[in-house]
Amino acid sequence: MSGKEMKYIQEAFDSNWIAPLGFNVDEFEKEFANYIGTKGAVAVSSGTAAIHLALSLLEVKRGDTVFCSTLTFVASANPILYQGAEPVFIDSEPNSWNMSPVALKKAFEDADRKGKLPKAVIIVQLYGQSAKMDELQSICNAYQVPIIEDAAESLGSKYKGKFSGTFGEYGIFSFNGNKIITTSGGGMLVSNHQEALNKARFLATQARDPAIHYQHSKLGFNYRLSNVLAGIGRGQLEVLDERIRRKREIFQTYEKELKKFSCISFLKELKDSFSNRWLTTLTINENQAGVTVEEILKAFEKENIEARPIWKPLHLQPLFKNIPYYPHHKDVSISEKIFSTGICLPSGTSMTEVDQNRVINCIERLLCHSH
Ligand SMILES: *Cc1c(COP(=O)(O)O)cnc(C)c1O
Repeated sequence: MSGKEMKYIQEAFDSNWIAPLGFNVDEFEKEFANYIGTKGAVAVSSGTAAIHLALSLLEVKRGDTVFCSTLTFVASANPILYQGAEPVFIDSEPNSWNMSPVALKKAFEDADRKGKLPKAVIIVQLYGQSAKMDELQSICNAYQVPIIEDAAESLGSKYKGKFSGTFGEYGIFSFNGNKIITTSGGGMLVSNHQEALNKARFLATQARDPAIHYQHSKLGFNYRLSNVLAGIGRGQLEVLDERIRRKREIFQTYEKELKKFSCISFLKELKDSFSNRWLTTLTINENQAGVTVEEILKAFEKENIEARPIWKPLHLQPLFKNIPYYPHHKDVSISEKIFSTGICLPSGTSMTEVDQNRVINCIERLLCHSH
């Protein structure tokens, strides 16, 4: 927390609006939409709920298919199953680590041949880096299939000057505790379709018909964000730019100190894009390094440094066994390669210079020793 949150929380208490609606919710939605440049936004209880609402608005139902990035957190795809639909997973391409236009095209060609196009494509903007949206959008447009952008990890990131989350029919964000700003738990659905957003508000409050008695003609959800938590969100939004600045500084320090090791490749910031550098991520050439990713993670653990592997691709998850998967090339699965050789380094904005040096020294000791 930054200290700017208490004022808004206090306002919620002073007005006694301790409910999943109120002034903070309205203002948080306006301020958020203003920041990223969409016509509107709906504050919800999680990023997962936002994806679920987007799929509901697109009327994804049992028997439908939805294409989804494979290299991501499970929450990107779970709502497809909530709707009784079937995911099809699409590989990454090596530069952005995000959805491969080559694999997406192949998936569309096959679906077209079978006469069953997907209802939507969920494109994830992973670790702050934007996907190659021009290429992906032109493929989806050719088949007239809407995009849902999972920008949960990419708040404040840009592609060709436009914010992540503003490219698709719907964009979603998360304010879970691990994200660049947090409300402890929460999310946002954004779009330029005001009518659709109003429908999302309706669905997110149990789809209650406008009648004085409790009447319901549609299946709804209980997905709205608390007015107290929206107060935290308003305070956090004020420090977002500072968070991004610090995240990028943390990345730059890692890169400066570790670029001497040719076995390390950082996730690059692609030309035409601006990354919030949510997490500093890299892959290791294990042969060249003489140590494995597992050994590095173990060495970190021994020194009480918490680091993580890259998300395990969803097509490898037991939950999604036997789900169709389109690799980047027939014999090359990029996401599997990134998963088996990748590491997320500690990237918290409250990390001190001393903390970060400890991480860097640990890597230096391991890699120099093995040479
Ligand atoms: C965190 C995250 C989500 C889910 O957000 P919640 O608010 O935790 O439900 C979805 N997609 C990605 C890529 C995420 O990192």
